[in-house]
Amino acid sequence: EIDVPESHPRYQSLLTRHRIEAGVEKGITSKQGLIAEGRGEAFDYLLGERTIESADEAARAAAALLLLADRPVLSVNGNVAALVPGETVELAAAVDADVEVNLFNRTDERMTAIVGHLREHGAEEAGVEIKGLTADARIPGLEHERSKVDADGIGAADVVLVPLEDGDRAEALAEMGKSEIVIDLNPLSRSARAAAVPIVDNILRAVPNITQHAEALRGASREELEAIVADFDPEAALSAAEDAIRSGDLE
Ligand code: ATP
Ligand code: MG
Repeated sequence: EIDVPESHPRYQSLLTRHRIEAGVEKGITSKQGLIAEGRGEAFDYLLGERTIESADEAARAAAALLLLADRPVLSVNGNVAALVPGETVELAAAVDADVEVNLFNRTDERMTAIVGHLREHGAEEAGVEIKGLTADARIPGLEHERSKVDADGIGAADVVLVPLEDGDRAEALAEMGKSEIVIDLNPLSRSARAAAVPIVDNILRAVPNITQHAEALRGASREELEAIVADFDPEAALSAAEDAIRSGDLE
């Protein structure tokens, strides 16, 4: 889908840009999404564009939390839909979660385009339900448009994965008592700090990594899964990411 050889040192970053650009052209990603992408890239560069060990541990804890959940929901915005549509569907299938389209700048056109895009990436075949169009519940403490969720989706979820989420909404969801998994390359962002499980990694790497861990943990007992979650320390994960950035060791 892109004319750059995989051996190119900036391959992944070019691929990411290309996907976001295509997302804007397709009407699934907002222009704001381009700015969010630029911020993410800067942090990924500083992390050496790799999954650091603490992020891999966080991905494993996220997999355990999703497998333990009664009603897990994976939230999808315009950047997530552009970058990892098929990977998100695969994760949902692996942990038996619903997917909910949840936009910061909500418009009917973008909602419909993203739902269609996820269907094109195999949601139906995988038996994954796509929610978000009903919007019959609200997240308390947020202004009207930004608070909309499905009552039987994020509204009723016990565990939510919110990649690249805005800080206000991440905090409001945590206040509702949801166990929150955030994927965000900025370890200082409010979203990452609101999370029970912050994964400081590029979503391109993090989502397939959670799926792999979920597949490896499929046979684990509840006790084993609970121990993985209990052993995970979100503060330590954020400090480890910050240390990796400060160390300037780009590999
Ligand atoms: P707040 O402090 O409220 O969280 P913010 O600056 O994080 O504000 P946004 O710009 O909406 O607000 O957030 C986008 C976030 O998504 C940024 O923290 C950015 O690092 C992160 N991000 C962007 N692209 C990716 C990506 N591909 N993978 C992971 N994280 C990403
Ligand atoms: Mg943020």
